[in-house]
Amino acid sequence: MIPVRGYAAQDAKSPLAPFQFERREPGPSDVQIEILYCGVCHSDLHQVRDEWGGSRFPMVPGHEIIGRVVRVGDQVKKVKVGDMAGVGCMVDSCRTCPSCQEGLEQYCEKGNVQTYNGKEKDGQTATQGGYSEAIVVDEAFTLKIPENLDPAAAAPLLCAGITTYSPLRHWKVQPGQRVGVVGLGGLGHMGVKLAKAMGAHVTVFSHTDSKKQDATRLGADAVVVSSNKEEMAAQTGGFDFILDTVSAQHDINAYLRLLRRDGHLVLVGAPEKPLDVRPFSLIPTRRSFSGSMIGGIQETQEMLDFCGKHNIVSDIELISIQQVNDAYERLLKGDVKYRFVIDLASLRK
Ligand code: NAP
Ligand code: ZN
Ligand code: ZN
Repeated sequence: MIPVRGYAAQDAKSPLAPFQFERREPGPSDVQIEILYCGVCHSDLHQVRDEWGGSRFPMVPGHEIIGRVVRVGDQVKKVKVGDMAGVGCMVDSCRTCPSCQEGLEQYCEKGNVQTYNGKEKDGQTATQGGYSEAIVVDEAFTLKIPENLDPAAAAPLLCAGITTYSPLRHWKVQPGQRVGVVGLGGLGHMGVKLAKAMGAHVTVFSHTDSKKQDATRLGADAVVVSSNKEEMAAQTGGFDFILDTVSAQHDINAYLRLLRRDGHLVLVGAPEKPLDVRPFSLIPTRRSFSGSMIGGIQETQEMLDFCGKHNIVSDIELISIQQVNDAYERLLKGDVKYRFVIDLASLRK
């Protein structure tokens, strides 16, 4: 076994603190990665605080992982020692069910193996994430990082990037279509960059008026302050597609109303409490309301290559691992522009 240092939560009420654990020795198809950077996703915070229920402790969070390959099993073909590699929200799946066979491992019918807060396929070994110095992953669940992208700023692509890219592709957003992005956080700011690169006309909905300039700088064509009733009313019926990335309780009907006939609202934000959908927000104009979870491995690679081609990365604030508890508090206040990324060199000091 390989001894690994990281930061873990011991229970839902405790701050993250130094933690020592073990990773398996790489098997024939495994890759050992020295982790350089790991993004801080709001899902880390939801799970550390057990807001979705069923959290497993101790928990080393982190699923936006980029690092250097330091060892490979003798059957590994995808990467070699010295390569930069990424790991996102999954480290395995059954690989045989219809979803897995279609490259939709995130919807594996036996349940994908989450990078942390999950169990390996042996049904026993706890998975632990990227707030740590190393990870061992089957090569099938590693991603190649385009060389022109800064690795620290590319780390958030592994969750925030694919979670916004996948629904934009699945619902076939076309150049010139009107796209709304609700919430300008880690996911939201990636949604803006990706939808713009796909040629859409993008409107950001933010609940504060402090992000107007940033939204425009990130590429948005328009910005609406969602607490302003008149600004919201002026948008009614105008949108082909709305991506909702909000992490907290909010009125979903206020956005369903903004869709044109047959428009789609896709929820990727995962607030702790239920959202209340009014039937007549959907029925009279045949609007649809759906959800979407991350993306499959093949699509994640496609997204990374798309970002390489369009030079898209996340706007990040690089932090040391010792700052992670403060970063969580700032995330809750919306005080992040627009993703915290942990520099794991701070753990090795
Ligand atoms: P984040 O950086 O904290 O961004 C969330 C944004 O939501 C904030 O920036 C804020 O935008 C808005 N918001 C926060 N509190 C609000 C409130 N009380 N009322 C209205 N708006 C509020 O979080 P993130 O990392 O982007 O994650 C967003 C959500 O997506 C989380 O729930 C996360 O768990 C989920 N997620 C889902 C998937 C998936 O596969 N579906 C993957 C990753 C993350 P404004 O200030 O601009 O309003
Ligand atoms: Zn995430
Ligand atoms: Zn499967």
